[in-house]
Amino acid sequence: MNWNELDRKYVWHPFTQEKTEPRPFVVESAKDATLYLEGGNALLDCNSSWWVNVHGHGNSEIQQAIHEQFSKVDHVIFAGATHHKAIELAQRVATLLPSDLEKVFFSDNGSTAVEVALKMAIQFWHNQGIKKKKILAMRGAYHGDTFGAMSAGERDYFNVPFEDYFFSVDFIDFPNEKNEMSVLEMADEFLSTGEYATLIVEPLIQGSSGMRTYSSFFLDKLVEMARCYETLVIFDEVMTAWGRTGKMFALDHLKQVPDIVCLSKGLTGGVLPLGLTVTSQKIYAGFWNDQKHKAMLHGHSFTGNPLACAAACESLTLFERESTWENIARISRMNEEFAQEIKGKELPVSVRNLGTILALEIKNDQHGYFSTLKEEAYLFFLKNGLLLRPLGNVIFINPPYCLKKEEQEYIFEKIRQFLSLL
Ligand SMILES: *Cc1c(COP(=O)(O)O)cnc(C)c1O
Repeated sequence: MNWNELDRKYVWHPFTQEKTEPRPFVVESAKDATLYLEGGNALLDCNSSWWVNVHGHGNSEIQQAIHEQFSKVDHVIFAGATHHKAIELAQRVATLLPSDLEKVFFSDNGSTAVEVALKMAIQFWHNQGIKKKKILAMRGAYHGDTFGAMSAGERDYFNVPFEDYFFSVDFIDFPNEKNEMSVLEMADEFLSTGEYATLIVEPLIQGSSGMRTYSSFFLDKLVEMARCYETLVIFDEVMTAWGRTGKMFALDHLKQVPDIVCLSKGLTGGVLPLGLTVTSQKIYAGFWNDQKHKAMLHGHSFTGNPLACAAACESLTLFERESTWENIARISRMNEEFAQEIKGKELPVSVRNLGTILALEIKNDQHGYFSTLKEEAYLFFLKNGLLLRPLGNVIFINPPYCLKKEEQEYIFEKIRQFLSLL
């Protein structure tokens, strides 16, 4: 069977200019942090298969949990019916989050978790007849590829064709060490009008815009301010949750607590699609009414899918193991040491790291279009057995936590080699 030819004929891949980009490689099997390809090559999965695979591939406990669940209930409607694993998952997630966050709405992925959060925030005010219609977000944000999520995200070349169809959103600048105070003033100008239904941010680190970090001081101040002007705060933790930042959630680094949290990606260990939007009893109470139209009239066919919920529960069990947190701590520590090493060299590179995420932004104009650098880097790492997919001119790793010390050292060695070519 010529899989490549069939793929070319029948499959349309995401985020891919199929005319110019290399054909995809065929993955035949995957175990732990390694992907095994047709033809015998293997690749280390440095970005956790689009940032989702937290415990490594082929985890036998997650496999067992899905298998057992299949023999009980494979899928069932989630309106008018419920099931054990959804209930268990909701309770466990609510227990892990700060105590105010305890009502869990299910959907299918990160984008839908964000759509649900936005709809919740908008309808919360609408249901009470309070006129708060505006939305505030942050420059550079990525919240997903559905229309609501795109509207709240950075308007860049990914979504130009759709811009006329977006609802209007105001943006505060991305806060760095120099402008934090002026961005807070900017936020105050918007929020003090009292017109904002919600503020949505990726807490502490923006993923797609290049793993850009900002301070917990800033975010605490921003959330406090939103509180003060009665604007609901949404944390899009789709990328940051499940140990990525070194703690279970990015919000665990903060003093303030948001009103709504979006979860997905690593939620099921990254093996099945599932999204959660978690909020407080206060928000929930805004929908609790004798009138049907005040309900959250939103849902998807696969809402609360039992197999995905079973995988997620098992993933949480893996997070109860000390060894998982030891691995997260080791990956984070090695990232920190490598970041210090790179900072000590005279390279056209700025380094950012937060927990298990390490990013190197390459500032080398000689390469012209950053897409060239992106392709060069991608191909260089592929040739060296690493699946490491840069974001523009940002090379980054966010590996599965089962990554071995020697594997991480190998990644660093190859990054050193690549940097020496700049
Ligand atoms: C990936 C991502 C999303 C979208 O999730 P999908 O499951 O790809 O729809 C939303 N927000 C953030 C921060 C993300 O990283």
